[in-house]
Amino acid sequence: MQNTDKDIARAGEILRGGGLVAIPTETVYGLAANALDGRAVAKIFAAKGRPQDNPLIVHISHIDQWDALVREIPPRAKALAQAYWPGPLTIILPKSDIIPDEVSAGLDTVAVRFPSMRATRRIIDAAGVPLAAPSANLSGSPSPTCARHTMDDMRGRIDAVLDGGECNFGVESTVVTLATDVPRLLRPGAVTPEELREVLGELEIDSAVMGKLKEGAKVASPGMKYKHYSPNAEVTIVRGSLSQYCDYIRNAAEQENACGREKIFALCFDGEEDQIPLHCVTYGREDDPLTQSHRLFTALRELDERGALKVYARCPSADGVGMAVYNRLLRAAGFSVVQLNEYRSR
Ligand code: AMP
Ligand code: MG
Repeated sequence: MQNTDKDIARAGEILRGGGLVAIPTETVYGLAANALDGRAVAKIFAAKGRPQDNPLIVHISHIDQWDALVREIPPRAKALAQAYWPGPLTIILPKSDIIPDEVSAGLDTVAVRFPSMRATRRIIDAAGVPLAAPSANLSGSPSPTCARHTMDDMRGRIDAVLDGGECNFGVESTVVTLATDVPRLLRPGAVTPEELREVLGELEIDSAVMGKLKEGAKVASPGMKYKHYSPNAEVTIVRGSLSQYCDYIRNAAEQENACGREKIFALCFDGEEDQIPLHCVTYGREDDPLTQSHRLFTALRELDERGALKVYARCPSADGVGMAVYNRLLRAAGFSVVQLNEYRSR
């Protein structure tokens, strides 16, 4: 389906009738169902192969819809919404009774987002109900940032995909919980910790954001504990200057005889290709994390399409929006990081 009045109305009908539609948003494509219908929401878990204990984000198209979904909206939540909604920010609060258990995965909180993309809001309006929507990928794969990637994963599993073009940000929303005494960042996104602190004053960063969870550790955000965003290839992040990186991968490629040089790829920044002694896939400009977030998941899928078995990734800065990029890449790499220069800050 296309982003036309007729197709948006049709998407609304499918959703009202308990069906599943993959929809564009400014972050990534979402797999949507009526958030107030537990049976419709259960189909999302089946289509994605998503673990049952991983809760979903509820999307609204008007700020007034928030009231009915949560127990109350405290002043700090209102202030955050005022500053960053509509936009790529998800806010968690204690849930109201109309939220089915399937959405909250048994937790007593609910995650809500008011997206900025016009097409997304028009689809929610057409459905006439809030929409529960996780990313529209098969569980574990990189999130889809265009309709083709969505169809690659969801063909035959859902009722429709609405093509709204490429997603602007390309990584999922920032997730912050206000259900704790001190607000806590559970997932970094395009709204940065600095921007959240401007409004909230205080903000803790959950240890799962930049680190690996310990076996059996209690998790604040269930999604963090799963293997995520992984291409088929084994990814290693290489931290160091471009010349250190080139020396390292040249050496690694020479020693590699198990999979053959043709299957080893560099995941690097725009404009570096000429200096790199391997096949390259690029993921944005070194000095511009928004171009990296826009490209990262597409680049990971491209590596699979080109048959990569081993990937050495240039390390992004973890500042600002870069924290979201680094967080996703770290999970794609299964936390495998090679440190070539102890004294560089990134
Ligand atoms: P996705 O929709 O696939 O981008 O995933 C949604 C993310 O938000 C996952 O990491 C979830 O674990 C997290 N999430 C959603 N609802 C809650 C909640 N009530 N409490 C904590 N984390 C949540
Ligand atoms: Mg996801």
